[in-house]
Amino acid sequence: MLHIALHFLVPALIVALFFRKRWWQSYLWLLAGLAIDIDHLLASPVYDPLRCSIGFHPLHTWPAVLVYLAFLLHPRTRLLGIGLFVHLLLDAGDCLQMPDGADKLRAFLPW
Ligand SMILES: [Zn+2]
Repeated sequence: MLHIALHFLVPALIVALFFRKRWWQSYLWLLAGLAIDIDHLLASPVYDPLRCSIGFHPLHTWPAVLVYLAFLLHPRTRLLGIGLFVHLLLDAGDCLQMPDGADKLRAFLPW
C-alpha cells in the first residue's frame, strides 16, 4: 500500500521542488509514468505482491527503459521520461523489500 502511495507522493514532491510553474500539468505528466503498469494485464496473476516488476513485465525491461531514456532527451517528453524513471525506481525499491528482490535487480543490471 505504501508503494502505491509513493507512486503519487514522489511525483508531487518532485513537482513541488522543481516544477512549481504549471504544477498541475507537470504532475499529470509525471503520473503518466504509471501507465506502464498496463503490462501487468499480460501476467497471471495480474498482481503478485512477491513478483519484482523490473525485468519481468515487458514495459519494465531494458528495451522499454531505452525508450524512456530517449524521452528524457527531448524537452517535450522530458516530464514523461522523468515520471517513467521515478516509476521504475519506486518499483525497484519495492523489489528490494522482497525476499529475493535484490538478486533479481542485480540480474537485471548489465554491470
Ligand atoms: Zn510498475
